[in-house]
Amino acid sequence: MIYIADSSLFIIGKRIEGNIITVPSVGEELRDETSRTTMELMNVRIEPPLKSFIREVTLKAGLTKDSEELSKTDIDILAKALEYSRKEDVVLISDDYAVQNTAIHLGIKVMPAGQKKIRDVLLWEKFCFGCKRRFPQGDECPVCGTALKKIRKKNRN
Ligand SMILES: [Zn+2]
Repeated sequence: MIYIADSSLFIIGKRIEGNIITVPSVGEELRDETSRTTMELMNVRIEPPLKSFIREVTLKAGLTKDSEELSKTDIDILAKALEYSRKEDVVLISDDYAVQNTAIHLGIKVMPAGQKKIRDVLLWEKFCFGCKRRFPQGDECPVCGTALKKIRKKNRN
């Protein structure tokens, strides 16, 4: 089994059997000694993401409205996972909900490093802090006129 891992795995220090791959930006993100040592001990292969897959991930992330939540590192790791998912059985390890959500939309299997796995695909909705109503879309509350804020839909656990 091939695992594509973001920084969550190395920060939590979970032991995994199999081939672990990550991207250079994840390595750069790990600032503390313990996470870096964990990454070395796990014999992680570091591969840069391919441009064509970065483009595909960016397009798909736009569709699920997760793009504002995704960092460059998130997009890199998703691009790497997408590349491998086309040729092998691959699992993406991440505790980031936006990364998990986008991965599910891309048809990539997801596993958390520490947190519980999201059951359903998360999608966004709009919330009015004025009257506490929820709306599927819009910028302004049609009831009280307050500016709507984008929130994650609650997943049913
Ligand atoms: Zn309102």
